[in-house]
Amino acid sequence: MHQQSDSLGRAAFMPVAPSEGALRPLGIDSVRITGGFWGHRQQLNREAIIPHALKWETKVGWIDNFVHAAVGDVAGHRQGREFSDSDVYKLIESMAWEVGRTDDPELDAEIERLGTLIEACQCDDGYLSTRFGNPGQEPRYSDFAWGHELYCYGHLIQAAIARMRTGYQGTIVRVALRVAEHLLATFGEDGRDDICGHPEIEVALAELSRVTGDPRYLEQARIFLDRRGNGILPDIEFGRAYYQDDEPFRDSTILRGHCVRALYLCAAAVDIAVEQGDAGLLRVAQKQYDAILARRTYITGGMGSHHQDEAFGDDFEMPPDRSYCETCAGIGSIMVAWRLLLATGELGYGDIIERTLYNIVATSPSAQGNAFFYANTLHRRTPAAQSTVDEALPRASSSLRAPWFEVSCCPTNVARTFASLAGLLATSSDEGVQLVQYASAELAVDLASGCVRLSVETNYPDDGRVLISVAEAPGAFVLDLRIPGWAQGAMVDGHAVSPGTHRIEGVTVGRTISLQLPLEPRRTLPDSRIDAVRGTVAVERGPLVLCSESVDLPDGIGIDGYEIEPGAQPRADGDTGAVIAARLITHENAAWPYGAAGAGAGAGAGRGDAIDVPLAPYYAWGNRGPTTMRVWLPELGADVTTR
Ligand SMILES: [Zn+2]
Repeated sequence: MHQQSDSLGRAAFMPVAPSEGALRPLGIDSVRITGGFWGHRQQLNREAIIPHALKWETKVGWIDNFVHAAVGDVAGHRQGREFSDSDVYKLIESMAWEVGRTDDPELDAEIERLGTLIEACQCDDGYLSTRFGNPGQEPRYSDFAWGHELYCYGHLIQAAIARMRTGYQGTIVRVALRVAEHLLATFGEDGRDDICGHPEIEVALAELSRVTGDPRYLEQARIFLDRRGNGILPDIEFGRAYYQDDEPFRDSTILRGHCVRALYLCAAAVDIAVEQGDAGLLRVAQKQYDAILARRTYITGGMGSHHQDEAFGDDFEMPPDRSYCETCAGIGSIMVAWRLLLATGELGYGDIIERTLYNIVATSPSAQGNAFFYANTLHRRTPAAQSTVDEALPRASSSLRAPWFEVSCCPTNVARTFASLAGLLATSSDEGVQLVQYASAELAVDLASGCVRLSVETNYPDDGRVLISVAEAPGAFVLDLRIPGWAQGAMVDGHAVSPGTHRIEGVTVGRTISLQLPLEPRRTLPDSRIDAVRGTVAVERGPLVLCSESVDLPDGIGIDGYEIEPGAQPRADGDTGAVIAARLITHENAAWPYGAAGAGAGAGAGRGDAIDVPLAPYYAWGNRGPTTMRVWLPELGADVTTR
């Protein structure tokens, strides 16, 4: 491996490497996923998702945009939206982590090929865009609200960081460092008083500062953060809250507006706070994120209930059939939660990371890795039209997974997350090791006293048993296990433990620890203020949210054709599914759907036969052709009651 340490003296191979914080991340060279649920997805990413994204970015002309920009005729040939450069950069980032993970020489050569195309259209002063500033195009920096130039730089810099962190340099690193110098010269404290409509450059500059040890990049990130919120960008139909320019971040109490923008900005705020020792800023970021977890997050971990502006709704405004829950917002949430976990040492942030990984990130790609959900609805009322394998769709209007989108941020975001996923499994501290996510893996952790080698064996989440073996240790160390919040009845070595952090002291070489997580299906009720799902029940099993899909119901029965029996408890069905007792309901369609009687089941509704409704993991839905689906199940007799 091309191991390298960054200038802060930390092991590399990780997307986020804070120089301070309660816990230290482990690189993807220190943690190797060896199989199971996530091992399968890493393989799918390598064999299907990354080649698929490269094929599509070639096919739709986004890579050729760079070729045309280099020869000066891009204005007449450009394809894609104003931010399509960023998707090429995100693809390179995912390839870079994959090369770091596997040393794949072909992918390495592909990164270099793309880097050469990109470098050929970089201006002498470092400016780089296929959308602005080329002959026949609008001038550079003429549309900060929608132009996305700095957003694109952010993803370019992230791609370069992935290269540097995995021990490579090369063209893309050279290009990104020139862009970064151009940014400092143009947008510094004495420079242009502008910000990008889409945050992303901030989190990239903060990390670039960590990789290079150059504090100027961190300071530029802080300048962008603090400039925002002062009404610099134009007022638009969604208001300036859409791009978080309505109120300074430090004065805000909750994330709002466009979810991905808000979450990327919050991730940057945590990075800046940690690196500049700004405890107040860290508290503000944590408070805002905790507030959306408490009041604006779907059971899947998804965020965003407005389609039109891709935004958070008001508190508890989470209609399941209008859930937006963009895949990228899920990834943005994981970015924030992971940074807060490292900064604060609160392993509980691993709960939302786990929920979001299994129910948003794993849901997006199809079983074959050649189609993706952009939006992740919790309730599909009508079967969607099957998309064709050759057609790119406008983003979230696709209701089944689509092979590509005109706005295609999500597939490459999934790809870079899967390629670097091992970095989210565990952390270390001066005392020992913390296991945050459970997957089959080999870990090599450098503690001050020496190297600890752990092997984790499990079929989780199909099976709740996790075996942790210590193959090497310099002496006794502390092992912390995250016991998920839902895991009432978890056992460690046969003893009951409580949700939260379970600490095992004095762990030495040769020890095997057995963790048993309870995977019986469980009934989950919503806060009654989430009016849209009042009177309904969800079923979860371990970290998995389950759903009812029409293909699993008897012929002629739709997902609104039954209600579950009052108080019905789900029963396990197979490793990951469940069944729940229900009654068929017949609806008589009246001329007016409101009235004094039968407010819940519909006027004239009648109870029919008892059935067992099969429930399956939400992440797998939509893989068997057009269907209808629901996560929240109506409960008989609960329609007009309040708890
Ligand atoms: Zn997206």
